[in-house]
Amino acid sequence: MTTTLPPLADGWPELTPGWVWLCGAGPGDPGLLTLHALNALRQAEVVVYDALVHEEILAWAPQAEMIYAGKRGGKPSAKQKDISLRLVDLARAGKRVLRLKGGDPFVFGRGGEEAQTLVQHGVPVRIIPGISAGIGGLAYAGIPVTHRDVNQSVTFVTGHDQTGAATGSLNWQAISDGSQVIVIYMGMKHAQHIATELLAAGRDPQEPVAVVSQATTPDQRVLESTLSTLVADIEAAGMEPPAILCVGKSVLMRQVLDWQGMLRGEPPRNLDPLGRGKPAEVT
Ligand code: SAH
Repeated sequence: MTTTLPPLADGWPELTPGWVWLCGAGPGDPGLLTLHALNALRQAEVVVYDALVHEEILAWAPQAEMIYAGKRGGKPSAKQKDISLRLVDLARAGKRVLRLKGGDPFVFGRGGEEAQTLVQHGVPVRIIPGISAGIGGLAYAGIPVTHRDVNQSVTFVTGHDQTGAATGSLNWQAISDGSQVIVIYMGMKHAQHIATELLAAGRDPQEPVAVVSQATTPDQRVLESTLSTLVADIEAAGMEPPAILCVGKSVLMRQVLDWQGMLRGEPPRNLDPLGRGKPAEVT
């Protein structure tokens, strides 16, 4: 793969010295970057990046100093306060600063906190959204996060809080009652707890669950499981974080929409996995 970048037309925003652009890098595949992200990578003097940002993306800013601010589930490596204040310092030193975060910066990424700190310190910011793993990662697994025959709502949930503990503040009964489809970020550590809560809330033990790890990267793996067998299946398959869990019947759509499998020459397993009995275009 080439690292030569396509030209961007004139008129794109300038990453001015002293500014911080808080930018989503998407879930992994560099092709899922936005053009604003690419424009930022080309201008940055400093890139402060997270663990989930793909190396190939960083290679698109060869001129920039790279600062790793990674944090992985519960491990107290770089502290959030230190990262935010580092960004303030870099901006005050007159750098063109790109803060690059996995997925979308405002989806379970603490982007709001970082941006707030910057604004509170008088540092001007631009926010560049990215494709979130809970949408784009599922799409790469052939799972539509909404599908008219399945769900009219979807809930995005984090599986653990800032300390790494299971999220006690979540009302799983309400989530279960309110959403046919539940997408869980950071859910691997507490998969047992989550499955138990959803079963206690009345979800069907046979309900499909997908686990998509390293979504959109060459190492993407997809596990199809059920609520009652989830943890045993995760262990048997050796699935590791980072992974997205998706609970709900939209997971069945993978049987017809596993486009990556089709790229490898595998035929669709089932053209009508929801048992509609009529073509998809007929309402
Ligand atoms: N801001 C990010 C989420 C950060 S929280 C976003 O919008 O996607 C980190 C969690 O995101 C991980 O624990 C995992 O649940 C999920 N995640 C991020 N990238 C992922 C990927 N490539 N594959 C699977 N899950 C991913």
